[in-house]
Amino acid sequence: MNPVVAIVGRPNVGKSTLFNRIIRTRKAIVEDEPGVTRDRNYGEASWGDRSFTLIDTGGFEPVSRERLPAQIREQIQLAIEEADLIIFLMDGKEGLTPADEEIDRLLRAHHKPLIYTVNKIDSPQHEARVFDFYSLGVDRIFPVSASHGYGVEELLDEITRALPRGGPVVDEERIRVAVVGRPNVGKSSWINRVLGQERLLVDDRPGTTRDAIDTPFAIGPRKYLLIDTAGIRRKKKIGLRLEKYAVVEALKSIDRCDVALLLLDPFEKVTEQDARIGGFIQEKGRACVIAVNKWDQVKKDNTTVKTYTEEIRQGLKHLAYAPIVFISALTGQRVRKTLDLIDQVATAHQKRVGTSLLNTFVREAVERFPPRVHRGKRGKIYFVTQASTKPPTFVAFVNDPDAIHFSYERYLINQIRERFDFQGTPIRIYFRPRG
Ligand code: GDP
Ligand code: GDP
Repeated sequence: MNPVVAIVGRPNVGKSTLFNRIIRTRKAIVEDEPGVTRDRNYGEASWGDRSFTLIDTGGFEPVSRERLPAQIREQIQLAIEEADLIIFLMDGKEGLTPADEEIDRLLRAHHKPLIYTVNKIDSPQHEARVFDFYSLGVDRIFPVSASHGYGVEELLDEITRALPRGGPVVDEERIRVAVVGRPNVGKSSWINRVLGQERLLVDDRPGTTRDAIDTPFAIGPRKYLLIDTAGIRRKKKIGLRLEKYAVVEALKSIDRCDVALLLLDPFEKVTEQDARIGGFIQEKGRACVIAVNKWDQVKKDNTTVKTYTEEIRQGLKHLAYAPIVFISALTGQRVRKTLDLIDQVATAHQKRVGTSLLNTFVREAVERFPPRVHRGKRGKIYFVTQASTKPPTFVAFVNDPDAIHFSYERYLINQIRERFDFQGTPIRIYFRPRG
């Protein structure tokens, strides 16, 4: 998902002119959708290495120009709900108006990044017109001429600078994280460590709504939702600590997550229950991080990590795609690293690869290692496309799906994983006969 930038301002300040200037080289994305007005209200823009979706909120104004305050409110509401960044556009020819001041107050009540911009500064001689607007009490105002292009590059520089960084994880809604594992493995400890002690006081009433059970939190720009957090704590309180309940609990929260954090006990290593949970994570197509907890209690030498890794890989075959980290929820060791890994696998989980890049790569992979004859036929792959994300799912059009051995499927999955950085997420390929 691209970040969204909205242009807000009174009618006639030049919003649609500025919109068109920024979009100009790119096609508006909603152009051919039925039921959408022909106005180009949404468009894709890019500048430098950043791309973003631009909204001209003026395009959503009711035709009547009388209801100015209501219409501005709606426009601003839209911008606040949809946008990561707001360009507040004013008219340098008219000067600062009371309506501008009202918009300013509305915008400031929320905490969206704002860029103050004064339009219709068509030549350097007009620059002085901008001074007036500093009475709004802002540090920086960008003079532009939407119709002549003056100042627009500087504005674009500022937009790309102010946009949230960090790719899709930041722009998407929260990463939904399920913390799973056997009783006593350290789930509550990990959660408490991550949330900080004060969050322990968060509502613990039984039977509260799902929202109360899930716990949102953020670290810098990264937003998460811990699934069923209060549930984990409550179970503890009432002493319901049986293994089988733990598995049912895990299955329920895995069902609702993007990323499963599977905690393992360093002394038990991989139990049958862990393997079942692991199988479920894979089957459900969830991204996964495996964390061996209580690492502070383990006597280590320089082969310990290797030995553990091998045993875990052996016991959790379904989760071969998941990175492993050795942590201590008690001391905090590598808890931050666990979060970094969660971000990484979440990014992979929702990543999309362009069709032409994908096909060039798959063609090469097939040339390097062509399918063997299987069931009397040699498989041929004509075309591959990514059909969906979460998990990344590909459709390969072939001469005959039966001619593709599952080991060949695995080869392709591994190649795609390596080349396009799909670490930590399952990948699916469906083979379809070319129609
Ligand atoms: P909106 O209602 O905010 O979308 O404003 P428009 O983009 O429709 O522009 C309103 C009027 O201002 C039009 O007549 C534009 O030609 C004019 N306009 C827009 N940008 C500029 C500019 O940079 N300089 C001058 N002089 N006029 C502009
Ligand atoms: P849960 O049942 O999975 O939520 O596990 P808890 O978080 O309640 O932890 C069970 C026990 O293990 C508690 O006594 C914790 O203090 C302890 N524990 C949790 N994490 C660690 C750790 O990293 N190191 C050590 N030494 N003890 C831990």
